[in-house]
Amino acid sequence: MSITSFFKRQTLADDSVSADGGKKARMEKKERQPVPVTATLKTVQRWEKELNITLGKVVDRGNVCTEIWCECCRTFAVDRTSNFVTGNQRVKKEGVKYHKDSTSHKDTLQIKSASLKRARSEATPFEKSLMKMDEVQMAKMEKLFTTAYYLAINERPFSDFPKLLELQAVNGLSLGETYFTDKAANEFVGQIVLLRRAEELSR
Ligand SMILES: [Zn+2]
Repeated sequence: MSITSFFKRQTLADDSVSADGGKKARMEKKERQPVPVTATLKTVQRWEKELNITLGKVVDRGNVCTEIWCECCRTFAVDRTSNFVTGNQRVKKEGVKYHKDSTSHKDTLQIKSASLKRARSEATPFEKSLMKMDEVQMAKMEKLFTTAYYLAINERPFSDFPKLLELQAVNGLSLGETYFTDKAANEFVGQIVLLRRAEELSR
């Protein structure tokens, strides 16, 4: 089974899926009626160089930036509500810096790189590890996916993942103990959401 066919089989409500970046990303949401701040185009271009980030801009006739966004996040971000996706009318360097250091931006960089690899038909390390699996391991992995999905869709904490695996083990379905720690579960669910987003973008 390929990961593509796995995802195509999913009929669950995709839009409600949120990775571990979900909560943090929400904190970046637009503040209530922010006071617009502008900066000259030159200044914004200088920030881009200094902070190594590509910004989209609305520039008025006087070469003043009235709105900026992160080009990478506008294209690839899972969370579509961040003001660096929708457009930020507070054109401030500290805002750009805060965004650049945010978890949601860092996650999006990973999605971007996964998407580019996909476009070049390269597999990500996670996909490579899936390719090496035999049928028995793959069947287990499919059940792990389903379990991870249940958590993501219901916005349950990742700490529930090991508990769900334990429950399934008690019911006679051992899925191995690899994902019995919060950290492993967090990484696993995160990887699935990243793959999922890359899949959506490549359609
Ligand atoms: Zn960004």
